[in-house]
Amino acid sequence: MTSDVLVSRLIDLIGNRIEAHADELTELDQAIGDGDHGDNMRRGFRAVSAEKDALVGMVFGEALKKAGMTLVMKVGGASGPLYGSALMAMGKSAEAAPGNRAEVAQLLEAGIEAVKARGKSDVGAKTMLDALVPVLKSIEAGADMAGVRKAADEAVEATKPMLATKGRAAFLGERSIGHIDPGARSSALIVHAVCDALEEK
Ligand code: ADP
Ligand code: MG
Repeated sequence: MTSDVLVSRLIDLIGNRIEAHADELTELDQAIGDGDHGDNMRRGFRAVSAEKDALVGMVFGEALKKAGMTLVMKVGGASGPLYGSALMAMGKSAEAAPGNRAEVAQLLEAGIEAVKARGKSDVGAKTMLDALVPVLKSIEAGADMAGVRKAADEAVEATKPMLATKGRAAFLGERSIGHIDPGARSSALIVHAVCDALEEK
């Protein structure tokens, strides 16, 4: 698969997943946040989709950086700057599209490090990192595509009993317990879309 085909598929498949699950993300955010996560993600990825023609013609790393900047600029909530920083860091870490497992892991790790730095957070705070880090671990452990998807879904469920210590949900203290973190869910949706893009023949 060439880089431009991959970029095109990623834009379409991530965009479609976000559109299809926007209401679900909003409902999750209504429980422990301010109820805008679906809108934020939809606005951000619609803006990226609107730039598809330009992005597809770019070197892979440059396309990631540009898409990341768009998310930072177009999304008001915390998630835009966090996902945007992740994409920008990923774009800086590699010019070419990843060609093997180690390169996929390297790319995801660069994104995770950017979220940790920008969010001043780490795993266990009930955030998107609690989905992204287990996914990275599954890739490093040699999981196949189904295994990576499973790791993402299990990680989302595992945010339910967690106490939020970062983001808006942290204001709820103990009342954040018992709910799935919206950002962990959106991260898992993106992971599924990336798997779809890589699996499509
Ligand atoms: P906001 O919280 O500003 O309304 P969103 O609702 O779009 O923004 O996104 C909320 C999600 O962002 C949370 O569910 C969580 O996963 C993620 N998040 C919030 N703050 C942080 C942080 N400091 N570090 C990592 N992720 C965070
Ligand atoms: Mg919110």
